[in-house]
Amino acid sequence: MLPETTSDRSPIHTIDLIRKKRDGGSLDAHEIAFLVSGAASSSIPLDQLSAWLMAAWIRGLSLDETRALTLAMRDSGEKFDPSRLGKIAVDKHSTGGVGDKTSFLVAPIAAACGLAVPMISGRALGHTGGTLDKLESIPGYRTALSLSEFETVLAHCGASIVSQTPALVPADRVLYALRDRTGTVESPGLICASILSKKLAAGLNALVLDVKTGSGAFLRKQQDAEYLAALMVATAEAAGTRTVALLTDMGQPLGRAAGNWIELIESVELLRNQRPAKSEDLRELSLILAGWMIHLGGKAETPLIGRQLAEAALDDGSALAIFFKMIEAQGGDTGIFSDPATFHRPGATEILNAWKTGYITEMDTTKIGWAVQRTGAGREKAGEPVDPHAGILFHARRGARVEKGAPIATIYATNQSMLAEPVELLKQAIVIASVPPDAVPLITTIFTRENSEAHLHNAVR
Ligand code: URA
Repeated sequence: MLPETTSDRSPIHTIDLIRKKRDGGSLDAHEIAFLVSGAASSSIPLDQLSAWLMAAWIRGLSLDETRALTLAMRDSGEKFDPSRLGKIAVDKHSTGGVGDKTSFLVAPIAAACGLAVPMISGRALGHTGGTLDKLESIPGYRTALSLSEFETVLAHCGASIVSQTPALVPADRVLYALRDRTGTVESPGLICASILSKKLAAGLNALVLDVKTGSGAFLRKQQDAEYLAALMVATAEAAGTRTVALLTDMGQPLGRAAGNWIELIESVELLRNQRPAKSEDLRELSLILAGWMIHLGGKAETPLIGRQLAEAALDDGSALAIFFKMIEAQGGDTGIFSDPATFHRPGATEILNAWKTGYITEMDTTKIGWAVQRTGAGREKAGEPVDPHAGILFHARRGARVEKGAPIATIYATNQSMLAEPVELLKQAIVIASVPPDAVPLITTIFTRENSEAHLHNAVR
């Protein structure tokens, strides 16, 4: 890239920024903005961006650098302005998991409580599922809306779940693809900037982050997840968005279903208040997350009162009505929900039975996520289609006592030849032992603007 000259600064050269980071220095906001605009406009070659990413991965980004990167990425393309909706805009973002379908509950619940929920979601990534892939199992549902269509759906329904537009945070498209190819994904500063730039570009007033820990999380170690959570809260708060992060357990799939259509069946059952005891963890987490959204959105004095309002929106059917309204507004056919099981047509089915009597003590959820992907519910390469009917339904959870021969899971695959691998992965992932495991809390830590900065300053990195 040609050196940039301004009247009051010396020219910037990309090579100098790479060398500075490589040697452990910190870039200022102007230098970071130069890199980000070079990424978005393709004026900095990919080899130089890759070198800078690797230097940033190895050396780490300071709090100031992380903030500057987040804001520069947020400003790298078009933005959504929800202020015209006349409502407080709130969203929830999860760092990714298996069977994590809380978006289908919290978005309509928060909308039913008078908030706007402009939710820009992603596709399956690695072993984790993607909200957009799940929604696209509804015939006709369009995830790729223009920003003006997005606004129309939000004005009509209060919630809309869509994919990122090509012009929203273009710098993240370039940097994320490079990180994926250069082994530089797992960096707190880079993850924080990537996630928050997209959330802040959606113009949110408040954001609830669900940061996963445990065997199915991208950051498995509690300490790493805590650092990322505090970093995201402090960064988003500094950018003017009220934010909270909950550290939640991903040491087993959330709820009973992991796949695409089967996750929507489970979600709509809960929105209809059917079989709540069978999906208790999913219901509980959704109510807590929605309670925080309602609180940060100014509709409840405390998160607990928010939770009560959330529960009322489930009980009176208003959240269900909004979910269906949103699906119809985005072209989806809600008729298939009148008998969701009839629409479920997997190519091949197999039941995995307990191979001995005992307690389920472990569910390696990354392995389970790969098992789900291998049924056909996920993709091997970017751009491939996914099978809406594939996935895994669990009949027993961690801590459950199972008798030899009792069903643990039902595997739905695209065809017969795609059953063996997920069955084998499940057998490796699930441990049955004679002694029950210790209970694991659903939520371990909550970071707010009050405790995040202090956590970051005390954290050993
Ligand atoms: N999701 C994102 O959008 N970016 C990351 O870096 C990680 C997860």
